[in-house]
Amino acid sequence: MPRKTIKNASSTRAHFLYGIISYMLKNIMKTFFATLLCILLIIGGFFALSKLKPDNTQAASIIATNFIGYDLTRAITGNSGSVELLLKPGSDMHSFEPTPQDIIDISNADLFIYNGGESEKWVDRLLADNNIPREKTLRLMDFVNLKTEELTEGMESDETEDDSPEYDEHIWTSLKNTVKLLAAIRQKLSEKDPENSEKYQTNADQYAAEIIKLDQSFRDLATNNKTLIFADRFPFRYFVDEYGFEYFAAFPGCSEQTEASSGTVAFLVDKVKSENLKTIFKTEFTSDKLARTISEATGAEVKELNAAHNISPSDFESGITFVDIMKNNLKILTEFFNS
Ligand SMILES: [Zn+2]
Repeated sequence: MPRKTIKNASSTRAHFLYGIISYMLKNIMKTFFATLLCILLIIGGFFALSKLKPDNTQAASIIATNFIGYDLTRAITGNSGSVELLLKPGSDMHSFEPTPQDIIDISNADLFIYNGGESEKWVDRLLADNNIPREKTLRLMDFVNLKTEELTEGMESDETEDDSPEYDEHIWTSLKNTVKLLAAIRQKLSEKDPENSEKYQTNADQYAAEIIKLDQSFRDLATNNKTLIFADRFPFRYFVDEYGFEYFAAFPGCSEQTEASSGTVAFLVDKVKSENLKTIFKTEFTSDKLARTISEATGAEVKELNAAHNISPSDFESGITFVDIMKNNLKILTEFFNS
């Protein structure tokens, strides 16, 4: 009897131990499966993110040197985050030099869009030094008929006699050219990203329609025969040729000169007086010293026509477009021709 009791007691203890062990095992298994599930979820999450990442990277790795390349690309992709403007807003395109970080960014970009004129002589060297293949670049000056800078009567020349004529780089100021540039960028983007080519075509068509409408408005202005006097540099060669405007200016293209000779000042003052002009012009981001001199001598008001080389930091923040800038130029010129 006592033996039985002992036997019974040991069997109860074994049962008890078995219960504890199986309880612990169950818990360990539960923890193990929960941990496994967490690990799988984390791995799955990483996979999902890495699948998304190429799209984002691709969209963010277009670099445009100047405002026109930036603006047209942004209009085509329909996304302001898809393209980076190399020029800092408010800085001068003509004195730009890339920083070491710019060079790294350009080397890593999927597409590098540049204008290719006098102000961007650094580009060819950069592309060669860093072995950047041509198919990853787009030079906008390849897509329009180039004009040389013109030396008009009374203008200061900054060239020696040996200099070959310089191509004017402000190709986008003719809106006919702008449409060609838009088409060239759209074509390149579609080749690089065929999945979105339909969207690019739709967006480009919409922007082209706005540009073509403006082009017609400038053409309609040209029936008025009044001379534009620029007491400044002259980045509007393509513009005046396209729309048939007469002009005189102090310096050709974006000459680095800012000091006009007394002969140039006298010539421009005389033109303003003899044509009885109430307005003279300057361009964006330049000194208004010469314009003020001529304004004081003639009583003509100084207005700014924007050649859209670059935009100010506040305009950059507000997302101003090339079409907005040209609409404002149209408004100023309409007032001028109707005054
Ligand atoms: Zn310029």
